[in-house]
Amino acid sequence: MNQKSEKSTEKRRKVLISFPRKLTRAGQRIVCPECGNDHDFFEVAQDVTITTKYIQNPDGSFTPQSDESTVLGDVNLYCGECYADLSQYYRRFAEMIF
Ligand SMILES: [Zn+2]
Repeated sequence: MNQKSEKSTEKRRKVLISFPRKLTRAGQRIVCPECGNDHDFFEVAQDVTITTKYIQNPDGSFTPQSDESTVLGDVNLYCGECYADLSQYYRRFAEMIF
């Protein structure tokens, strides 16, 4: 019985390898291995310090001028569809933000 299941995994591997190379290389797009989503992603930063500069107006109200955020903790990447942790792709993700 064990031998049978091994054979079926071998077949699966063959199918994966026979994918056209162009498809697997296609612009190195990040695809969620869990659900196949390649469109929606979440970036979650832990322990973020946000410093915002405000100007006080003559009437006592405040207007924000600029803000600066410093990330002290980990930054993770998640699939926007199934919320799988895709942090292994974070470096590529960060390089592709324009
Ligand atoms: Zn997903």
